[in-house]
Amino acid sequence: MSGMEGRGSRTRVAVIGATGSVGGSVLDICARFPDRFQVVAVACRSNARELLGAASRFRAKYACLYAPRDGQSDTAREFGLRGAELLTGRDGLECVASMPEVDHVVFASSGTDAITSLQRALASGKDVSLANKESVVAAGPWVMPFVRRPGQLRPLDSEHSAIWQCVRDEPPGSVSRVLLTASGGPFRDWTLGMMRDATPEDALKHPVWPMGAKITIDSATLMNKGIECIEAMRLFDLPADGVGALIHPSSQVHGLVVFKDATVKLLLYRPDMRVPAAAALAWPDRLPLGEMSGFGELPSDEWSLNFSKPDENRFPCFKIALDAGRAGGAYPPLLIGADEAAVNAFLRGYIPFLGISNIIESTLERYSGPRPSTLEDAIELISLGGSMAESIISASGG
Ligand code: NDP
Ligand code: MG
Repeated sequence: MSGMEGRGSRTRVAVIGATGSVGGSVLDICARFPDRFQVVAVACRSNARELLGAASRFRAKYACLYAPRDGQSDTAREFGLRGAELLTGRDGLECVASMPEVDHVVFASSGTDAITSLQRALASGKDVSLANKESVVAAGPWVMPFVRRPGQLRPLDSEHSAIWQCVRDEPPGSVSRVLLTASGGPFRDWTLGMMRDATPEDALKHPVWPMGAKITIDSATLMNKGIECIEAMRLFDLPADGVGALIHPSSQVHGLVVFKDATVKLLLYRPDMRVPAAAALAWPDRLPLGEMSGFGELPSDEWSLNFSKPDENRFPCFKIALDAGRAGGAYPPLLIGADEAAVNAFLRGYIPFLGISNIIESTLERYSGPRPSTLEDAIELISLGGSMAESIISASGG
């Protein structure tokens, strides 16, 4: 345990991605348990207005804008008036992630800009809650070796939180395989013919989780579940065959662990990102969320244990991601870059929904370079995946 934790004092938290969907869930938990958590730093990409609101609400001492828009000195003055020092850019983010005034860093940003900050946070001994799956998928081999103690890196993604909660008290070597659940997204029951005409508006209607746009589109293609399988390989040190996924429309069960003795543990809770956020922030304690209005246990007569296998024909992105995870090397970072570019192109109306998987698959097929051997190589491969996907999109008239 780091810093002030365990000494009866508040955990000093930095929230990266504080203006986003998961960041909001994390801040909600911090606000409900002010005797446990003190938000000392908040960071986002460029939404200065929202960030200022969060910094003021929590009286944060530091705020970081990764890519400030115009008028930076005015913005710094505004933050200063609220008692927060404004940092900027990658250096600013790395500083927030490793500063001595912080015990626990939450990575709830989208994209991969925070990879070096994640590495810095772990290397400087911080406790880390990780929602940002892209970083650990693209750069796992250069991030995971910095995890020094059990419980230092805590999954915040709901499925991985469930797996973590099922395995953390089990002896090493006892897991046979893990299964992540997927709601199936908005197109779970759509035919390929219907999906051909799917609009961004259709794809952004997630049936269970309110989330940022990128992950919502990834849920509609099932790329999110494929990426999450690679995330599980990284976080729990499992081979590709040790991770799978099940469609579970009610999203009550979030993850299942099959043990060597053929027993299965699963974790069930109301689908609400504040639950895994609380589990990660408070470990090894459990916060009394069940007593709070708006949370509450799922009544046992409503429990649903319906599971089915994902359909790889209708959702090719799932298999593309699993294959990239199995191949390893350059493929996970290329996948992350290509997916980001393809999802952007779909959201801007440049390519159809079914074009997303074609673009990503073509990008991976065309790559014939070396495996990454450093973190810098992996970061370059993310950009390369993005630019290769963009040129395939332009060449196809998108
Ligand atoms: P949102 O789009 O809602 O929010 C993204 C957040 O990240 C914003 O605060 C954004 O700032 C910030 N951000 C983006 N780039 C940077 C950067 N370079 N430096 C600092 N902050 C940055 O996304 P979500 O909350 O939905 O998702 C965030 C991450 O969590 C993703 O990796 C996603 O896969 C993962 N996740 C999300 C879940 C969910 O329920 N939403 C569930 C499980 C995992 P700004 O507002 O300025 O753009
Ligand atoms: Mg998830």
